[in-house]
Amino acid sequence: MEPFFAVEGLTRRFGGLIALDNLSFQVDPGMIFSIIGPNGAGKSTLFNCICGLYEPDAGRVLFQAETITGEKPHRVARRGIGRTFQNLELFRHMTTMDNLMLGRHLHMRSGVWSGATMFHRGSRAAREEQEHRARVEEIIDLLRLHAARDRYIWQLPYGTQKLVELGRALATKPKLLLLDEPAAGMNLEERQDLIFWIADIRDELGVTILMIEHNMQMVMGISDHVLALDFGRAIASGSPREVAADPEVVRAYLG
Ligand code: ADP
Ligand code: MG
Repeated sequence: MEPFFAVEGLTRRFGGLIALDNLSFQVDPGMIFSIIGPNGAGKSTLFNCICGLYEPDAGRVLFQAETITGEKPHRVARRGIGRTFQNLELFRHMTTMDNLMLGRHLHMRSGVWSGATMFHRGSRAAREEQEHRARVEEIIDLLRLHAARDRYIWQLPYGTQKLVELGRALATKPKLLLLDEPAAGMNLEERQDLIFWIADIRDELGVTILMIEHNMQMVMGISDHVLALDFGRAIASGSPREVAADPEVVRAYLG
């Protein structure tokens, strides 16, 4: 059977540097799959190759039995791969609601202008807009963002901002969601909440999660499977317990 998601022999160089070195792995539907590894291991490069921001030098990316390697970011998003970024990419002078509503326009083909100007009742754009609004309401409920809905992003605590970014990625109805260090900059309480949100997103929305995360408490607490990278290669792969005990992983982190 074809895997839900897989990368095969993925390689990406920057000049003489090999950021991804013949990397292969696969992800089953409904998994929370985590990727760990020291700074510079190639984790963000991997996400950029999956999303179409970088073109790999070799290898391929498979999603739902199709090769998607080298497709443009909006096409990859259309297929149902959403993502958040390592640094917040929200519009700080807009409200939570507006950021969530914009989620679609940022990734989808029908641009901001067709959404804003073609407001004839019954038109495709109007119908899409309505569907999207319903989806956004669902996300506000799921992530309990009611209190933040009409506030500007800059007014919100950092943990809530990260939650809005998560919501914005969900607004595009992804089947696979890529999270790049979702717990970065969070305090203990925010991290513990985030563990619940991510589990809820998988359980309630059926979204498969591929997550880069440094915080081992997060990774251990939530993952079905962990892949450890170093110098663009897989050095360990298995259950969180197995990977945390792996001598190569211990060396890469402590050495
Ligand atoms: P990680 O996310 O695991 O910290 P990255 O994927 O960001 O690592 O980076 C992997 C390696 O590739 C690093 O050595 C980094 O400097 C290099 N790299 C990443 N992106 C670029 C780029 N656009 N140009 C040049 N080098 C890059
Ligand atoms: Mg990174």
